[in-house]
Amino acid sequence: MRNLAPYAALDDQSRGRRHAEPKPAYRSEFQRDRDRIVHSTAFRRLVYKTQVFVNHEGDLYRTRLTHSLEVAQIARTIARALRLNEELSEAICLAHDVGHTPFGHAGQDALHECMRDLGGFEHNLQSLRIVDELEEQYADFTGLNLSFECREGILKHCSAANAKLLGDVGERFLKREQPGLEAQLANFADEIAYNNHDIDDGIRAGLITVEELGEVPLFARLHGEVRGLYPNLSGRRLVYEIVRRMINLLVSDLITASGQRIEASAVNSIDEVRRQPSALVGFSTELAEHNRQLKRFLRDNVYKHYKVQRMTSKARRVLASLFNAFLEDPGLLPDEHRAAALRGEERAGRPGRARAVADYVAGMTDRYAILEHRRLFDPAERT
Ligand code: MG
Repeated sequence: MRNLAPYAALDDQSRGRRHAEPKPAYRSEFQRDRDRIVHSTAFRRLVYKTQVFVNHEGDLYRTRLTHSLEVAQIARTIARALRLNEELSEAICLAHDVGHTPFGHAGQDALHECMRDLGGFEHNLQSLRIVDELEEQYADFTGLNLSFECREGILKHCSAANAKLLGDVGERFLKREQPGLEAQLANFADEIAYNNHDIDDGIRAGLITVEELGEVPLFARLHGEVRGLYPNLSGRRLVYEIVRRMINLLVSDLITASGQRIEASAVNSIDEVRRQPSALVGFSTELAEHNRQLKRFLRDNVYKHYKVQRMTSKARRVLASLFNAFLEDPGLLPDEHRAAALRGEERAGRPGRARAVADYVAGMTDRYAILEHRRLFDPAERT
């Protein structure tokens, strides 16, 4: 293992796994986490789940899988530069979106609405539920039995009510503590990745243009820089040259600003990081503002674009009608999920039944949800 900082997540200081296991022979504990995530069913499903643009709209848009790989790449760079645990950061990033429903945020909002009085639905909690409860790969335990540090990183945010139900990994939300630095940087890697790839995808989809992006000061500045170097560059190469520089600038700033904050805090262990009053990883004030402007532009011009809104409203209707049909009549569920719904009902009544239905619906890929919708509601479709 490379020379890690004393405040990195270290194997021998790990808070361990829920079920004790022998140490891995060749790998670190966090490599083992990463490998378990890569081999999980939920991870494979990400290839057919929407990031912003529905999977079948075009082959070149990001899916949840390619998004997760970009996030992991950015996180590893940051972790290495700060002498943090690269393998843990990678594991957290690869798992961070496994709890997402089909159809991106539209799906999550629809499912949350359906579950409003039945315990709610939150993709972040669902990611943890998948790695803790729903993956069925091992004879000795349910879930993937990941390390505490990895689970802590996956659970990015959580309400106090939910935190009370989650045991060790929920405690920090009640004590207002921080997660380890590998988890902190994973959030920023996620943001850097999606802001930048949504520019690229947004241009590709024809929702925004390079000219319109000129109102984002950071983009305008880097556009000017690229134009100075390559006056005749246009089209995709121009976009890539600008986006590449944006990612580089954001990542470099995050490394420098976080490094300074870590040093100033004088933390000497992951537990001291956890006890800090606020996160140590973050942008400088200047870049944080640039980042906000970029997010605002994307919200107003991409996520609220009528073409994206149409997709969103369609997705809401598909998920809501699937959920309601299964909740009212679990007899429509495939055997294994019907059994889970009955078990849930015995344990916790209607919310228990609803949770099993939400697990089934959330686990669907975009195309599977569309197919199930057709099977349930189109009289001409085979069941
Ligand atoms: Mg993400």
